[in-house]
Amino acid sequence: MMFRTAFLIVCLVFALPASGAEDPGRVLFTYGGWEGHEPESYRDLLVPWLQGEGFEVIVADSLEPYADAELMQSIDLVVQIWTMGTITGDQLNGLLTAVENGMGIAGWHGGLGDSFRLAQRYEYMIGGQWVEHPGNDGIPYRVNITDHEDPITRGLADFDVVSEQYYMHVDPNNKVLATTTFNGDHDYWVRDAVIPVVWKRKFGEGRVFYTSLGHKPHVYEIPEALTILQRGILWASRSKYEETPNLISPLYPSR
Ligand SMILES: [Zn+2]
Repeated sequence: MMFRTAFLIVCLVFALPASGAEDPGRVLFTYGGWEGHEPESYRDLLVPWLQGEGFEVIVADSLEPYADAELMQSIDLVVQIWTMGTITGDQLNGLLTAVENGMGIAGWHGGLGDSFRLAQRYEYMIGGQWVEHPGNDGIPYRVNITDHEDPITRGLADFDVVSEQYYMHVDPNNKVLATTTFNGDHDYWVRDAVIPVVWKRKFGEGRVFYTSLGHKPHVYEIPEALTILQRGILWASRSKYEETPNLISPLYPSR
């Protein structure tokens, strides 16, 4: 009941219907988990933008909506910032089922890529899991755009970031759009390691978009970073309305 009350209050504040715009769909924005990733700041950054794009946005500071099958059927996209949390079996099943059925999911950094460490099917869906950020915050590094054809990264040049450089374990079949190379200043043995920064994939019929950028919101003051995040979110929101080709993009030779 406590959740219901809080959830409804949040809905009243944020679920302002877009007027006059074409209806691009319904987004569930879930925020919570570890406070160091500033879930409230990201809520305030992205919810107004989503509304400006014409989405109806349901904002929840709980994972409980994931277990509400009727609600989840009506959602076109989940945008989630939830780091180092725990998810119940019902919530996880609800989320995975909705994505399998065509709901998109999009997010960044630990809010999507380090959400529920014990939920291996969640990681199977996302296509990666954070394991380290050598040297912690304040690392200068370059993001290399490796796919110049994909609409999410088309027209963008490489750019520099000072933040956490995420070292991730990733599904080698993700369609990777950008990478970063480690210089070995911290954890010398990973010098020259190339790790994805942006990828897209499918899970069932649902589109999955992820970028490891964004330990703090200031990273999204970099225009290229914000463009990638916004394009990725919009792309993921369209699973139910647009055909998605097979995105399997194997890193290793098959024979
Ligand atoms: Zn972080």
